[in-house]
Amino acid sequence: MTNPDPQPAAAEQAATWCAMEMQAPGRPLQQVWRQRLPQPAAGQVRIQVSACGVCRTDLHVVDGELPWPGHPVVPGHEIVGRISALGAGVTGLARGQRVGVPWLGWTCGSCEYCREGRENLCPQASFTGWQLAGGYAEHVLADARYVFELPPAYDDAQAAPLLCAGLIGWRAYVMAGAQARRIGLYGFGAAAHLIAQVAARQGREVYAYTRPGDTAAQALARQLGAVWAGDSDQPAPQALDAALLFAPVGALVPTALQAVRPGGRVVCAGIHMSDIPSFPYRWLWGERRIVSVANLTRQDGVDFMRVAAELPLQVSAHTYPLAQANQALDDLRAGRFAGAAVLECRASSDAEPAPRDAAWR
Ligand SMILES: [Zn+2]
Ligand SMILES: [Zn+2]
Repeated sequence: MTNPDPQPAAAEQAATWCAMEMQAPGRPLQQVWRQRLPQPAAGQVRIQVSACGVCRTDLHVVDGELPWPGHPVVPGHEIVGRISALGAGVTGLARGQRVGVPWLGWTCGSCEYCREGRENLCPQASFTGWQLAGGYAEHVLADARYVFELPPAYDDAQAAPLLCAGLIGWRAYVMAGAQARRIGLYGFGAAAHLIAQVAARQGREVYAYTRPGDTAAQALARQLGAVWAGDSDQPAPQALDAALLFAPVGALVPTALQAVRPGGRVVCAGIHMSDIPSFPYRWLWGERRIVSVANLTRQDGVDFMRVAAELPLQVSAHTYPLAQANQALDDLRAGRFAGAAVLECRASSDAEPAPRDAAWR
């Protein structure tokens, strides 16, 4: 085979690396082997991935609950790795530097939202692990403007969940409002287990609601500072100032609305949710608000990484080898672990089978 790279380094010609790719929605990911390393275009960096978090959004992509982008998808947007190549014009980053790549992968920079500092709402934005190749892979390209420095106190597997669970959780937490003292977290998974710690350390009371009977998640919640943890179908022990919904269950919206006091907020943090059942207007009455959180801005990343560095947070990372990405997704769907799932993506160039199903791109 000839290598189609224009000017590949000798070592890169021989490289073989793998990614877990979704070729159609609703189908398991397939392990694919690639013969050449991706070359960073101007403004991009190539990253040798060491860990990638498994987010509920990945499940929504794989399960076809988000629109299909029209090409095979390598999921994963909680990427931790080291820069292995710099494209033209990249400044302020160096080979070997550890960085994180989040969900927001590119924005236009010129629309009304981008100019207002709300790039999370840019209608032309591209997202990592959906429109852009993600981190369920040994190597990935990223726009150099959208990578973060990571707090050194966290190892690679611990740092991965900060990049979405932490960041989106942080954005939802900020939206709860500075005056919210009693905060309910509905769905105690990767995001809630991080934000519970931030909230508790900042003097808020955390009430953790889990799937009925999920005593492992309830125990983790108490250990991380929740004053109360119980089943999501139980009544709230206190009227809440805000409720953050991390579970993709629309029926929790009216439940949470009944749990918040007048003036309180219900913040829906997921990208997808089952339909919200109808409910009587009096549950919303009293200036209660329902809001959603969409994506993140780079400023959210800077702010949250500073908080994560200061606290620091205890990260419950349940690790899987990259090749077991389907198992990790299944376990997330079934709620089989407490905390966050993380794929370990160490380069396996000595260990791969004969290349098959190689994708050339
Ligand atoms: Zn824009
Ligand atoms: Zn995510």
